[in-house]
Amino acid sequence: MSNPSLLILPGDGIGPEVMAQVRRIIDWFGANRDLTFDVSEDLVGGAAYDKHGVPLHDDTMARAQEVDAVLLGAVGGPAYDDLDFSVKPERGLLRLRKEMDLFANLRPAQCFDALADFSSLKTDIVAGLDIMIVRELTSGVYFGEPRGIHMEDNMRVGVNTQRYTEAEIERGARAAFELAMKRGKRLCSMEKANVMESGILWRDVVTEVSKDYPEVVLSHMYADNGAMQLVRAPKQFDVIYTDNLFGDILSDCAAMLTGSLGMLPSASLGAPMENGRPKALYEPVHGSAPDISGQGKANPSACILSFAMALRYSFDQGAEADRLEQAVQDVLADGIRTADLMQADGGTPVSTAEMGDAVLAKLDASI
Ligand code: NAD
Repeated sequence: MSNPSLLILPGDGIGPEVMAQVRRIIDWFGANRDLTFDVSEDLVGGAAYDKHGVPLHDDTMARAQEVDAVLLGAVGGPAYDDLDFSVKPERGLLRLRKEMDLFANLRPAQCFDALADFSSLKTDIVAGLDIMIVRELTSGVYFGEPRGIHMEDNMRVGVNTQRYTEAEIERGARAAFELAMKRGKRLCSMEKANVMESGILWRDVVTEVSKDYPEVVLSHMYADNGAMQLVRAPKQFDVIYTDNLFGDILSDCAAMLTGSLGMLPSASLGAPMENGRPKALYEPVHGSAPDISGQGKANPSACILSFAMALRYSFDQGAEADRLEQAVQDVLADGIRTADLMQADGGTPVSTAEMGDAVLAKLDASI
């Protein structure tokens, strides 16, 4: 059987710096775990614009459609701020998400014990936190028609439309239930069925899909209450499934429970391909961090943990994903920190590459 294939798109700013550490980890799995990937690398964002005049070349797009998974660093930077909207670096990322039809965005919020102090909430509320938000990514109010700003009675009116078909709700719900099956078998669906018809339909369809997953305990919650519960008692949740707009807000809120942007991975999944694997793009939540780029200060953990998600969700290597996540956790438990994770009272931060060294040493020690 041929090796699984990975397309790596480091992008801009700290993207290439953090991705360099992931490349070392991918090599480690090849050398030590009999898990070799066919890795190709290409340009996205400002880097692609510099070479091709577009933020994503058609050949790169075609390659992304062929591979088993895409791993992206970050895009953007001040050098590209004044470009026309159509060629801005972010358009490269949006094109990938759209053409791969990545409808389920997975954002874990996991609090590593060693970083519990970093949360703005009390340690006992977040210690051991491990939740997953599944956000519907390709529909809803960000895409619904009609939209726009028009004149009515001599006044400007802004319009956006929340629109969901049953099929759109259902495919995301199935992804969320499948995830719940691999985790704690609890799913909380969030909408505003009290004031929105699309919320009533959402609740109906999710309840319908739940019949195919009798082992999963389904609950429903209004999204505003969900926001309150996330900061009051976040550990009550396992998997949360919600729409594009609520998911945008709730996933940022949940992410910050855990402290630092440098620790947050994400996955965006689409329909299964012929080989049964979902179309998939893995990327850290953070951007290209121009303020620290080129200085060796970036925390590679979010990108490393994104690769761990790829191991789990694209390559069915849950045990190896656990191994990698544990390695990151062990490094933090030893007190090794990049600058973004330093407390005000000091210590000496390690560099991006030294963080990579530390994770590799923990991986070595794990076998
Ligand atoms: P950012 O995430 O790049 O940075 C926000 C802050 O967090 C900065 O202070 C940065 O130094 C810090 N930070 C982020 N990642 C870090 C890491 N791995 N290690 C240590 N510190 C880290 O967000 P921004 O400053 O709003 O945006 C900068 C650029 O990135 C913009 O061009 C923006 O459009 C782009 N962006 C891209 C993506 C993406 O590629 N998915 C996401 C967000 C922003």
